[in-house]
Amino acid sequence: MKTDLDEKCRSISLLLVDVDGVLTDGAIIYDNNGVETKRFFVRDGHGIKLWQRSGGRFGIVTARNSHVVEVRAAELGVQLVRQGVADKLAVVRQLAEEHRLTLGQVAYIGDDLPDLSVVRQVGLGVAVADAVEELRVGADYVTKAPGGRGAVREVVELILRAQHRWDDLLKTYHC
Ligand SMILES: [Mg+2]
Repeated sequence: MKTDLDEKCRSISLLLVDVDGVLTDGAIIYDNNGVETKRFFVRDGHGIKLWQRSGGRFGIVTARNSHVVEVRAAELGVQLVRQGVADKLAVVRQLAEEHRLTLGQVAYIGDDLPDLSVVRQVGLGVAVADAVEELRVGADYVTKAPGGRGAVREVVELILRAQHRWDDLLKTYHC
């Protein structure tokens, strides 16, 4: 089972994630002016930077539309941002094609039913620890960390370890 997971991880070059419930804990906060804010987790952000630094591609696919997602993506140097997506699987297929990748080379992290078809189809389908049961059952891997609290970081480390690239990255921190 572990070998099977390692095998899936080794093929991954594009990591895609949902936003609400994955990059965040799912809370959507409005200020008095009705402007939406979200809370992101700094270690997830660092994980995304590590993944990109190691040569991996990263992207965001979300059904909702919010300015803070653009802000956070820009901060992390993420250029692949698809918001307002009604059919996530169609968009994930399109992104894979644009990068000349098969779905087997794509990992996707989700938390809810709109993510289910993607999680089932990609090479490495991941559910966060607090995802709905259907997603956890259909996933190749369920994170130990919940959404917005290190789930994305955990998957980055999982893939990079399987690809034997984690230790090299650690060396840049003089560990
Ligand atoms: Mg979600």
